Amino acid sequence: MKSSIEPPDDPMRSPACFGDTRIPSELIQKWQGVVNLVADIVRVPASLIMKVEPPEIGVLVASESKGNPYEHGEKAALDTGLYCETVMSTKERLLVPNALVDEKWKCNPDIKLGMVSYLGFPITWPSGEVFGTICVLDTKENAYSELYERLLLQFRDVVEADLRVLCDFDARLAREARARIEGLQASERQLQEAVRLRDEFLSIASHELRTPIASLQLMVQALTRGVVSPTPEATLRAFGLAERQITRLTRLIEELLEVSRIQAGRLSFQFERLDLVALVREVVQRFEVESARVRSPLSFHSEQPVMGLWDRSKLEQVVTNILSNALKFGAGKPIEISVEEAPIGTGRIVVTDHGIGIPPECLPRIFERFERAVSAQAYGGLGLGLYIVRSIVEALGGTVRADSLLGSGSTFTVELPCNVGGPLP
Ligand code: ADP
Repeated sequence: MKSSIEPPDDPMRSPACFGDTRIPSELIQKWQGVVNLVADIVRVPASLIMKVEPPEIGVLVASESKGNPYEHGEKAALDTGLYCETVMSTKERLLVPNALVDEKWKCNPDIKLGMVSYLGFPITWPSGEVFGTICVLDTKENAYSELYERLLLQFRDVVEADLRVLCDFDARLAREARARIEGLQASERQLQEAVRLRDEFLSIASHELRTPIASLQLMVQALTRGVVSPTPEATLRAFGLAERQITRLTRLIEELLEVSRIQAGRLSFQFERLDLVALVREVVQRFEVESARVRSPLSFHSEQPVMGLWDRSKLEQVVTNILSNALKFGAGKPIEISVEEAPIGTGRIVVTDHGIGIPPECLPRIFERFERAVSAQAYGGLGLGLYIVRSIVEALGGTVRADSLLGSGSTFTVELPCNVGGPLP
């Protein structure tokens, strides 16, 4: 059985490969000790661990014993009548005490190397596939006692246990690698989604910023070029329009600034003792003109003051964002606002509209940055208002949630602990 493939440079240290599973050099060294020991105890010139790699079988480990004609790395073709081939195909022990007097074995290739007796056992992978064999060969007749058989079997079990550990380790590595790849793929998808949202935002933002400016420009041109006669009514209308567009621009700029503060972790609060009821009522009053324009009457309900330590301007922003959405998406229907202390120690603001509602699949993400549940053509907005609301409310230790029925309206509920800014004086 001479090698058709050159043995590796350092056979003792080179990891052997089988399919996808590498056999580390540490294991090969351990098995080397095993076959050396077997050859010494059984007193034979050759003890081997063979490994099948169809269409060949090779010597994976050969005992370093005197007179051993086999060397690590040697390979021979299968289907040549080797002892080990029979062990692998039957998956059973094979004992040939003297091949020279055995009709079946007297022409086998190992006789050319002087090996006339053989005892071998199959070694299998944990999957049940054949790995190869563990065997001993002798130059003279040898019936190998039952003790030697037990010894060889014992070592066979050691090799199979090592293979099990190896496969488990490989499977774990493969699982970890798969998890890493899946993680990378998920991050890539998140990145793509972030880029998509950013691009969408940039196109909406430029549209949102240009529209009020264009509208202001047209109005000024109409007045200065005498397209519209500067009657008191026309001037009043023009100022009304200008005020609305300026408010819209200011809000957009404030939103952008607030988001950049949130992103930079620079949200700061100035706590003062205040009545949530009075604060919300004031914001509601600021929306009277807008409410009349979109024909959505606002009704405000509260029973008694709700005192707490809060940041006035931040809470005004929260209520403003929710209320302006209620008016924008309210479809000209009434809007109810209520403030109460429920449960005790918690200020609760509830804003209910009866407008277009929010599709259930969009509900979980409307508080995310740039997320919108309507088309940019149908409604303006940067998709930042609710993100700001959630950021402020959560920074104050509170919660905000939306309940909605598509086509029937939405309810936004904000709950804020009263003493987040410190104990109430
Ligand atoms: P936008 O500036 O687009 O209004 P928001 O963050 O304030 O951004 O709101 C995100 C999205 O949530 C809106 O685009 C809209 O689709 C949906 N939304 C918010 N409030 C309401 C509401 N009261 N009724 C219906 N949809 C709403």
